[in-house]
Amino acid sequence: MASCIDTLIIGSGFGGAVVAARLVEAGQKVTLLERGAWRETAALKDYPLTQRAPLPHGKYFASHLLREVSVGGRLAQRQVLNTNGLFDIHYDKGMTSICSSGVGGGSHVYLAMNTRPLLANYWDNRANGLSADNMEAHYQWILSRMGSRPAQESDNIVNLVPQRLGHHPALDTKIEQPALGFRFGHTYANNAFLGDANGHKVTLDSLLLAPLLTKGLTVYAQHECLTIHQQQTGYRVEVFDHSVQKYRFLLAKRVVIAAGTLNSLRLLFRSQALGGLAQMPALGKGFSGNGDVFAIWQAGTKDDDFRTGTPTLGRFKLRGLPDSPMLYALGINGIDQIPLLPAFLRRSAKSWLALVGMGNDEANGRVTWRNDELHIDYQQAKNPILAHIYHAFDLLSQHDKKRVWFLPQRAITVHPLGGARVGNHQQDSVINAKGQVHGHRHLYVSDGSALPAATGTPPSMTIAAWASHVSQHILSEMKNHETDI
Ligand SMILES: Cc1cc2nc3c(=O)[nH]c(=O)nc-3n(C[C@H](O)[C@H](O)[C@H](O)COP(=O)(O)OP(=O)(O)OC[C@H]3O[C@@H](n4cnc5c(N)ncnc54)[C@H](O)[C@@H]3O)c2cc1C
Repeated sequence: MASCIDTLIIGSGFGGAVVAARLVEAGQKVTLLERGAWRETAALKDYPLTQRAPLPHGKYFASHLLREVSVGGRLAQRQVLNTNGLFDIHYDKGMTSICSSGVGGGSHVYLAMNTRPLLANYWDNRANGLSADNMEAHYQWILSRMGSRPAQESDNIVNLVPQRLGHHPALDTKIEQPALGFRFGHTYANNAFLGDANGHKVTLDSLLLAPLLTKGLTVYAQHECLTIHQQQTGYRVEVFDHSVQKYRFLLAKRVVIAAGTLNSLRLLFRSQALGGLAQMPALGKGFSGNGDVFAIWQAGTKDDDFRTGTPTLGRFKLRGLPDSPMLYALGINGIDQIPLLPAFLRRSAKSWLALVGMGNDEANGRVTWRNDELHIDYQQAKNPILAHIYHAFDLLSQHDKKRVWFLPQRAITVHPLGGARVGNHQQDSVINAKGQVHGHRHLYVSDGSALPAATGTPPSMTIAAWASHVSQHILSEMKNHETDI
């Protein structure tokens, strides 16, 4: 590895891949560390990549489903099960949080919904110089790179919400449907949360990273960053190379943290605790679960098969419920990849819809660090959006006379956000409007942990837009030769 890296990015999801692409496409050399492997998908088959791992499909389901499970609170511990596993689960009394691992980050498991925040003024007045108007160009850039657009009737996709549920008297489906980062016109199956081996879902490994490997980007897959220590000239980064089971130390002038919300917080907390980084008084403040609530709706009859379709089938609101939250629907798409599932369950599940309710929670959770592990304090009672979504599920069930199962009092999120949020002052924020950690000019945060509030909609495009904005500042600092550290 190079003796002193110019820009080192940690993590390859929406926050990391976008910074890598923006810098390399502007002519810079970039090194990216990703703890997971490249995923074996059709979209990558022509690239000469080593360190590949399968998605948890078929015979790999049990072995490659989970990477690690961690627990907060008094029982704090963390167990890595398979470094090539797809998902991380962090269980905590207040909130259970799910994220993924592998080159391309969450783009493998996400439902390809490419949306803007619920509030048009989301970015206004968050920090000096930030505004919704300034961020607009970044949204347009990423949406255009992803080729995002809503599914249309002419795409011949069965089961889309407006077509399949449009007649339902309790549902308003005539709302703007989410744009999808999806290559339409192929098969529409096995493309959702277990990853899409056919490569029809647009993922960041094939869209942004692999094409840049010959143009200035170096990706070290299966390399997990453990700590960051500020030095006189840059940062010393401790890394564990899972492929050969060895520790390595890298020196970098500039570091961009993009390990996904919880893993970025873990890295910042651990580095702070070991004295590698200055104290960050607001670290862990402003944590949000984006109002996520999950349910299973016995929506169909035995003749329905919702497994076929795009990763999400669309969204709807409930008529007659003031300020109805948006509910996103998906078939249990991917169930075919689970071996040994009892036949009755496979038969029943094909006519079920999974529902995800989302909305603006208060982003008033607090993440802390004790016994070398994260602890999430998040109180449902202080986040009224959750009760509102539970109420929506109850109403749907009453109206429809079909079961809607959900787990009240058990907050689970696939959209953990905040904790290293952007702002002007270090008492209530960790990074400034350029993405720099207060007091560390060449240390940036570009992922979901940087977001100042819940987006209330799927957040990847907002994370990507933020990462693009941070890249612009890194490039302008480079241009101004501001390399004094
Ligand atoms: C099932 C599911 C469905 C979803 N659907 C949608 C959707 O439809 N639309 C949407 O907008 N969002 C969706 N999301 C959320 C979306 O995936 C995340 O918001 C997004 O991926 C977060 O981007 P990020 O860059 O912050 O982190 P990630 O995408 O999680 O990327 C972080 C990367 O860093 C790596 N990493 C972690 N720790 C280290 C370390 N110490 N060293 C090196 N690498 C490290 C991880 O392996 C990972 O690859 C979904 C999430 C899930 C789980």
